[in-house]
Amino acid sequence: MAGAVPDAVRDILTTLWSAGHAAFAVGGGPRDVLLGRPTVDWDLATSALPDRTVALFADAVYENRFGTVAVRRQGREYEVTTFRSDHDYADFRRPHRVEFTGSLEADLARRDFTINALAWGAASPAEEPRLIDLHDGLGDLRARSIRAVGEPRQRFEEDALRIVRAIRLATTLGFEIEPPTLEAIRMTAPLVAHLSGERIAEELRRILAADAPSLGLRLLADTGVLGAISPELAGQVSLSQNKIPGEDLWQHTLRTVDAAPNRLEVRMAALLHDIGKPATAAEGHFYRHEIAGADLARDLLERLHLPRATTDAVVHLVRHHMFRYEDNWGDGAVRRFLAKVRPDAIDDLFALRQADNVGSGLERDADGLAVLRERIAAEIAAGPVLDRSALAVDGSDLIDELGVTPGPEVGRILGLLFDRVVDDPSLNDKPRLMAIARELAERPRVAGGPPNP
Ligand code: ATP
Ligand code: MG
Repeated sequence: MAGAVPDAVRDILTTLWSAGHAAFAVGGGPRDVLLGRPTVDWDLATSALPDRTVALFADAVYENRFGTVAVRRQGREYEVTTFRSDHDYADFRRPHRVEFTGSLEADLARRDFTINALAWGAASPAEEPRLIDLHDGLGDLRARSIRAVGEPRQRFEEDALRIVRAIRLATTLGFEIEPPTLEAIRMTAPLVAHLSGERIAEELRRILAADAPSLGLRLLADTGVLGAISPELAGQVSLSQNKIPGEDLWQHTLRTVDAAPNRLEVRMAALLHDIGKPATAAEGHFYRHEIAGADLARDLLERLHLPRATTDAVVHLVRHHMFRYEDNWGDGAVRRFLAKVRPDAIDDLFALRQADNVGSGLERDADGLAVLRERIAAEIAAGPVLDRSALAVDGSDLIDELGVTPGPEVGRILGLLFDRVVDDPSLNDKPRLMAIARELAERPRVAGGPPNP
């Protein structure tokens, strides 16, 4: 253990010890070292009160009323938290009041799982640092088991985030949740609905970034937690569809997520791509489920307070995942598809569709994906006109040179010109487009190009 503690952590501990305080590395640091995994961040716990910690470190900042001081070392932040116990949990969320207890025992007892309640350090400057394991976290690490510290049901009622953390830890570590803890999760699952979207989203993000997200997603569904996050997704369980025989829609979703590359947008879109199916199934079909699905996906992602750009990207993927390529698509149809999807979303959309194919028991590139992909690459290389702003004429040309009345008529003509240029890119020069526009302006009822793919 000692050899694996980074110098910065040892430095901070030594400063605290030298000043006469007990100090330990706790939580994920010791856990991940013992598992031989890279540690994301190191958290420290100490008997020193926050003011004392701040005084000991030159660039320390007292972060919050829960007793956490941030200490910077080599550009990284280490959180040093005064030993505390938590009180007055309200609404199944974070404690309202914390008490600085001066005792490591109380501090470890407030922690969520035994594997997160291991501490490495010393109780006084005279002591040799050692591993403290009051809740048999080592036994559970060996058994690869997630077990609540104390009475599981009470711990989940205090803070329902622990329910989702248990499932996230099981997923990222590849651990099992031991039976009494799992049973308590089932009993308390509805409390997850009280959590803020941000806190759920962070755990969901980490589940989706695991090697096999389906482990966690299945646990969420089987315990009833999924229903507290998204009733629509929970509604996929036991909804049958004609893909892999004997498998329901939820199993298809899980296969799709596992097959998706490990990028948040694509994994999230894989999770949500068929979220509209339960609603359309109620009407006896899945027709245009991607349109209902895009709306439901947006609702969910907004509830989870994902960054706007992420939400938009995922919704866009859900909305367009049902394209059906046919060999008879002309180049214009390929360009129209490209203009609709936008080049910067093409990679993710194809990744999603490949995962969807795998999740449907098909070849990854089924439905002509490889051919379409190549045709799109060729179109992109040719620098196609993908929106009206790339036309060789603009609205003021139409107004100034053709006398078109400013207003909707301008947009109508530009739209028709755009359709023509998508069909035949060689038309995109000003004299030709002005000639076409002149005709369009004179014969306002001319219909647009061929139907969309
Ligand atoms: P990682 O950083 O890899 O996610 P971690 O265990 O370090 O894992 P943090 O969120 O950094 O997770 O929390 C640090 C420690 O604080 C945890 O190991 C655990 O001991 C404790 N902890 C965090 N959240 C809770 C909670 N909701 N209830 C009880 N203890 C918690
Ligand atoms: Mg941590």
